[in-house]
Amino acid sequence: TATPVTVTVTGAAGQIGYALLFRIASGQMLGPDTPVRLRLLEIPQGVKAAEGTAMELDDCAFPLLAGIDITDDARAGFDGTNVALLVGARPRTKGMERADLLEANGGIFKPQGEAINAVAADDVRVLVVGNPANTNALITSANAPDVPADRFTAMTRLDHNRALTQVARRAGVPVDEVRRLTIWGNHSATQYPDLFHVEVGGAPAPALVEDESWLLDDFVPTVATRGAAIIEARGASSAASAANAAVDHVRDWVQGTREGDWTSAGIVSDGSYGVPEGLVSSFPVTSRGGAWEIVQGLEIGDLSRERIDRSVAELVEERDAVRELGLV
Ligand code: NDP
Repeated sequence: TATPVTVTVTGAAGQIGYALLFRIASGQMLGPDTPVRLRLLEIPQGVKAAEGTAMELDDCAFPLLAGIDITDDARAGFDGTNVALLVGARPRTKGMERADLLEANGGIFKPQGEAINAVAADDVRVLVVGNPANTNALITSANAPDVPADRFTAMTRLDHNRALTQVARRAGVPVDEVRRLTIWGNHSATQYPDLFHVEVGGAPAPALVEDESWLLDDFVPTVATRGAAIIEARGASSAASAANAAVDHVRDWVQGTREGDWTSAGIVSDGSYGVPEGLVSSFPVTSRGGAWEIVQGLEIGDLSRERIDRSVAELVEERDAVRELGLV
């Protein structure tokens, strides 16, 4: 039988963790032939609840689940890990300034980067879900200098999936027929969901961008503020859809994106499309052989340029702020 892949989930006792672990253990992330060993990393107060989740995982008798370890120690949590899903983060609370938020998260992601650098497997792949995800990924990467920077990614797949469904509704087609959509920039309200290259049913779909008032006053804000709309309706933030997006991201990274399509992920910029090198920004990406590649050569019109630049400017500000704090 195959050697189990070690998957670490931080914030394992949280809402997203609860929705995520069962999907990983059932094989939906790494495929039906890959056994997984789960490492649940929590802060001390979260350990007991993580133990409860582990009991439920046991009770599922998942054939692919090779074992579960629970810890509040980052070194133990990342020891030999192949896939790390960094979900646990410090959410913004009322009255909190951005600098405070970045500093609080620096206190989480800096030591986690150091631990990954010291003890993770050589092939480690990291997905940051906890917000501010792009900048948390940057902090983690900066503190893991021996791990190639392209192994650190931030999740914009939920934004991507949200946008796919909005487009499918608008075009009146199954979601599967919508391709080549892009989320650019930061996973925040400034993100830019780009429909200019979208194909519907295998053909270009200029109608989607002809109605600028739908595009800018309806579609873009619907996608960018969907998280708040979910909180308003459900009384709690999105968890199952965030977990689903994390599964999609890692699955596509490891197993490859589908032919003729691309997806969106926050990856370290190589300077493509004018995004300053080193920033973790969302791009149109494909994955082959376990590595993301930025889709090159897309024409970027004035409207898109302005929106991308706005979101990237926010990423620059966040990077400068964490630089000042000595976190990167
Ligand atoms: P959730 O599981 O709901 O969310 C976890 C993180 O994911 C938050 O930072 C949240 O950011 C972020 N997130 C990203 N995308 C989304 C989305 N679409 N919808 C909702 N959240 C999103 O939080 P809980 O409070 O339920 O659980 C967090 C757990 O993490 C706790 O159990 C806590 O103990 C643990 N933790 C662990 C740490 C560690 O392992 N070292 C460190 C810190 C916390 P936002 O809310 O800003 O959107």
